[in-house]
Amino acid sequence: MAYLALYRKYRPQTFDKVVGQEHITRTLENQVINNKISHAYLFCGTRGTGKTSVAKIFARAINCEHPVNGSPCGQCNACKQLAQASNMDIMEIDAASNNRVDEIRELREKVKYPPVVGRYKVYIVDEVHMLTDSAFNALLKTLEEPPAHCVFILATTEVQKLPATILSRCMRFDFKLIEQNVLCDMLRRIFDDSGIKYEDDAISFIAKEGNGSARDTLSIADMCVSFGNGNVTYDGVLQVLGVNDDYKLCGLVQDIIDDNAGEYLSTIDKLVKDGKSLSMLARDMSTYFRNLMVVKNCKDYKDLIVVRKDIVDRLSEQANSLTNDNITDFLDEFGQVELNLKYSVRPQLLIETAGLKCMKLKKKD
Ligand SMILES: [Zn+2]
Repeated sequence: MAYLALYRKYRPQTFDKVVGQEHITRTLENQVINNKISHAYLFCGTRGTGKTSVAKIFARAINCEHPVNGSPCGQCNACKQLAQASNMDIMEIDAASNNRVDEIRELREKVKYPPVVGRYKVYIVDEVHMLTDSAFNALLKTLEEPPAHCVFILATTEVQKLPATILSRCMRFDFKLIEQNVLCDMLRRIFDDSGIKYEDDAISFIAKEGNGSARDTLSIADMCVSFGNGNVTYDGVLQVLGVNDDYKLCGLVQDIIDDNAGEYLSTIDKLVKDGKSLSMLARDMSTYFRNLMVVKNCKDYKDLIVVRKDIVDRLSEQANSLTNDNITDFLDEFGQVELNLKYSVRPQLLIETAGLKCMKLKKKD
């Protein structure tokens, strides 16, 4: 059997399976239950937060013969027919590639015809901000007088680019970045369900790299599953992502604290010879300093940082031996390295001198 990407295999089919957007799914469920459907919705938010998944569930729910708690039942004739990609009642339009006025005019012609299967014809317009001005005007005409059987769901990652005339005609929902612990729970559930073995540290790391996006989290998970042949380990995740081990970073930071230039330089040299990316190293050092800042200043720091569990105590010792000024100085230095790496012909030197400058700044304090 062909391998199905986790993101496709676990695309939610009911509202209760959508992660991290309860403020939206509850409202939509209630609209289905109370049969109060609007004609135009606007879904805003970063990529991978569930806009299209929620739009598709809603489109099926309002056509379902016996919705269950506001979600499509998945069993009735309408649900079965609308689950097929070839159905004529749920139309997905990518505005990035169909942004011209002619295409929107064509859509306006089509909306007149009633749905084939259920009660509503649903148009899901992805990346709606990509439409041209004249296409927006054409769309607006349809939104002003929509046929009773028509529902528009406009989705966008850049809501600030939409004209006010469109905004004022839509019921707006803002999709949040998905919280780290919600992404972790999602990964555990999916790995357990697929019989994939995993280490807890690996799960947190994948979720962190997913940056609030379920889609990105699952594509990283997919790579790690393939890499580890069904066994997702922390080391495997580091290798797949090319990021640096917390132990190594902790050692480098300790060298800075101890003013141990010799050790610092030889570790950097070794990392470079091992083929580590210098921009990744600079980024990881900045993240490490950010973690120190959080540990130093926040009581509930354990919820706010993602590091190997066995390194948390070391991190807290290091945070105690530094002042906030030290840490912001270090962040400035390595932030500069991240910026300058692109233009440098000798990138290794940048990271080396940044470390030595940090040692000097720490001594001055
Ligand atoms: Zn149904």
